[in-house]
Amino acid sequence: MLRIAVVGSGPSGVYTAQALVQQGAVPGVTVDVLDRLPCPYGLVRYGVAPDHEKIKSLQGNLRAAMEHPAITFFGNVPVGDDPRGLPPRRLLELYHAVVYCVGAAADRRLGVPGEDLAGSFSATEFVSWYSAHPDAAPDGFVLGARSAVVIGVGNVAVDVARVLARGAGELHGTDVPHAALSALAASRVTDIHMVGRRGPSQAKFTTKELRELGDLSGAETLVRAQEAALDPAWDDPAGLPAVGRRNVEVLRGWAGRPPGGRPRRIHLRFFLRPAALLGGDDGAVRAVRFERTAPDGRGGVVGTGEFEEVEAQLVLRSVGYRGVPIAGLPFDADLGVVPHAAGRVLREGVPSPGEYVAGWIKRGPTGVIGTNRSCAKETVTSLLADAGALAARRPGPVEDAHAVLRAAGREPVEWPGWLAIEAAEAALGQGLGRGPVKIPDWEGLLSAARSRS
Ligand code: NAP
Repeated sequence: MLRIAVVGSGPSGVYTAQALVQQGAVPGVTVDVLDRLPCPYGLVRYGVAPDHEKIKSLQGNLRAAMEHPAITFFGNVPVGDDPRGLPPRRLLELYHAVVYCVGAAADRRLGVPGEDLAGSFSATEFVSWYSAHPDAAPDGFVLGARSAVVIGVGNVAVDVARVLARGAGELHGTDVPHAALSALAASRVTDIHMVGRRGPSQAKFTTKELRELGDLSGAETLVRAQEAALDPAWDDPAGLPAVGRRNVEVLRGWAGRPPGGRPRRIHLRFFLRPAALLGGDDGAVRAVRFERTAPDGRGGVVGTGEFEEVEAQLVLRSVGYRGVPIAGLPFDADLGVVPHAAGRVLREGVPSPGEYVAGWIKRGPTGVIGTNRSCAKETVTSLLADAGALAARRPGPVEDAHAVLRAAGREPVEWPGWLAIEAAEAALGQGLGRGPVKIPDWEGLLSAARSRS
């Protein structure tokens, strides 16, 4: 009998739990999946854009995995540095092994003056707002800006640019919270500048996501041919890796097209590195100052000393995520990950018995959702290879972990509670003439969970 805790119920946590209980692994394994939030599914619920319904539908697969009889969900249970949190050493008393699948919750900083001016936000703040994350204020964005700058050219940048560019009508059928939908309906944004510090061939977005920007009904995507052509692979992308080649082909198709008069424009800009965010008399951001860059011949860029200002009353910094340390667990501050060997947590270079990692906190914030499956598998293979030693480490935790969680004065949300939240979201949407609409606040989520019969 092995009792295992998985911390985090995003894709990496669910895939880890699933791999642990899969038939033929170790008989008698039980897994408790703990999450700080009352709701499962991590970034599939709170990161995947609302209009990406196909990716969102992965929730169905994650749900099927979580409903395995050997898996128990405990939402609203923080781990680590939280007054209500369970520290890692306590988890090791309650479980034979703990797998941390906590993702990369923080944003990378730009490190330029003016980064924290009013009107400047991390893309994550914007994503959390339109995804109804309970830590985001439901009225967090009033979209009074005419011109928005999105810094970075990864898939998150594409998501936030696309949501800004879509009309609220196009998002009505999604689960966007009602306050965000109203703010998007009143949005005055007409121009969205999405800016990369390197060239088109080095952009991080994937081609499917890029193409979608060309298919928006109320917005057009504009590329400056002369600027993009600074990229040495622009004229002949054949030698690039597949994604870069396809991206350049799509961008070449758009380059030089004149504006066609749609209400909104997405300007895809390249070779511009943020130098400062500039404030107006009211103290809020009014523009971003960029330094023009040039390819250095090795995939990087050098500054040219030429500067350009792009008007912006809204700036979304979309330059990647970063792992956050968990008090009581080792952390590599340079890489923003927990040090590990094939998923085994390393303390001073030595595997720490019973502690494992999977997902972004293990390998950094890269890859698509499916990447987490193989990542989880590697960790679970290590854990199951250690099963004998793990069982011997504690002859069987004598404490009932579930009783401990409940008695600690917390209010764990178990699976029926989560299903009650889902039912409440369906009812909320019905009342608004919409499909299910997400509840955006802690109290709303917890009271819905309490309403389970
Ligand atoms: P990302 O793919 O790492 O892109 C970060 C972008 O920020 C890059 O363009 C990077 O440029 C730029 N950047 C970094 N530091 C910068 C700086 N100081 N100044 C200016 N630009 C800077 O990160 P992400 O977009 O947050 O995505 C994270 C992961 O989630 C990725 O694996 C992504 O594919 C995935 N995701 C997937 C989807 C989807 O499949 N639909 C949706 C959302 C997210 P350099 O390349 O020059 O560093």
